[in-house]
Amino acid sequence: MKPPNRLRDDAAALQDDLVRLRRDLHRHPEIGLHLPRTQRAVLDELSGLGLEITPGRSLSSVTAVLRGGRPGEADPGGEPAPAVLLRADMDALPITELTGLDHASQVDGAMHACGHDLHTAMLVGAARLLSAHRDALAGDVVFMFQPGEEGWNGAARMIEEGVLDAAGPRVSSAYGMHVRSYGAPAGLFRSRPGPLMASMAELRVTVRGVGGHASMPHLSRDPVTVAAEIVTSLQTMVTRRFDVFDPVVVTVGFINAGTTSNTIPDTATINATVRTFSPANQTRLPGEVTRLCLHIAEAYGLTAEVDYIEGYPVTVNDEEQYEFARTVVSEVLGADRFVPMASPVSAAEDFSEVLGEVPGCYLILDASAADDPATAPINHSPRAVFDDGVLSDGALVHAELAIRALRRHAERRSPATSRGSVPGEVA
Ligand SMILES: [Zn+2]
Repeated sequence: MKPPNRLRDDAAALQDDLVRLRRDLHRHPEIGLHLPRTQRAVLDELSGLGLEITPGRSLSSVTAVLRGGRPGEADPGGEPAPAVLLRADMDALPITELTGLDHASQVDGAMHACGHDLHTAMLVGAARLLSAHRDALAGDVVFMFQPGEEGWNGAARMIEEGVLDAAGPRVSSAYGMHVRSYGAPAGLFRSRPGPLMASMAELRVTVRGVGGHASMPHLSRDPVTVAAEIVTSLQTMVTRRFDVFDPVVVTVGFINAGTTSNTIPDTATINATVRTFSPANQTRLPGEVTRLCLHIAEAYGLTAEVDYIEGYPVTVNDEEQYEFARTVVSEVLGADRFVPMASPVSAAEDFSEVLGEVPGCYLILDASAADDPATAPINHSPRAVFDDGVLSDGALVHAELAIRALRRHAERRSPATSRGSVPGEVA
């Protein structure tokens, strides 16, 4: 039997409210950096909680700061109270929903197919819990409600607009979580130390030759054969130039050249998506790819233009913060609710921008609503269905991460005096 825990009971009592909010957001999805209805819903939910609210300037974000009830006790020396950050993304995808659910999207061509509606509801739940238990906070909490995760890098904009410093001093750690609609029964948290999610980039190559008659290729400079050689050489490069235990994915998904069979075209175009799982490979790959493309073209007397468009960096969990988050989930919900991940996932995530600035941990929360999660439609599918039964536990874990991270921070700053006097015990 689990020990009594007031926070857990309070989280459970929020479940119906969080389901109502999540389903309302699900019916009214918004895409991109500007989510006016979603922003209004979050502001309504947060009103009356005693938070310092700052709406975004270049995007419809919400930054909310909760001042801890007894920050002075954390540091009698008068240093500013420490702060931690909790983040939820709020945007939907340009997909028409095909789930047939009662609370399905009412907006054609927009769907919360990645579960960001659950993230938003869980973070609202955490704000309500922590506001009610602010005496447990040995510092401040920054709530980061972020638009534009699905390709707009809303996280970087919020960092530019000061979210990491919203409480005054820079946050000392940051936490977030992502639901998934497939793979395992609902309610399991999982993560890993180090790289958790891939970096993402796009490669665009234009091979420039000289077109001509297809029967006399020696009088032309054929970009099609050069492009074909680049496509296969990219795969050779991946296996010969990179450590097999620190993998790289280069997939050419688009290739375009010519208009008819008896003509050599002037140009050929190749577009590829690129994923890496370490900051070192993320830094190294553009140079390797560019050299390969330019020199293969040059070897045949042609030229190439290479555009390497960086997307999101690798999402890297701080090893010590991972251990902390694992312990929090295990102590609050039970050790059987946390599953260490053997390998990263190859999707990308702009919370990586936050974890590039401050240490922290990103968690994955299983939220499949299917009888057989192994075959359930995956995130981003128009048929993806998420179990909102996980909402109160998600809110609880957010809240416990903040409380315990601040308590730990205070204990480290004044180890002699803090034991027993630092707020944070809610149990
Ligand atoms: Zn997502």
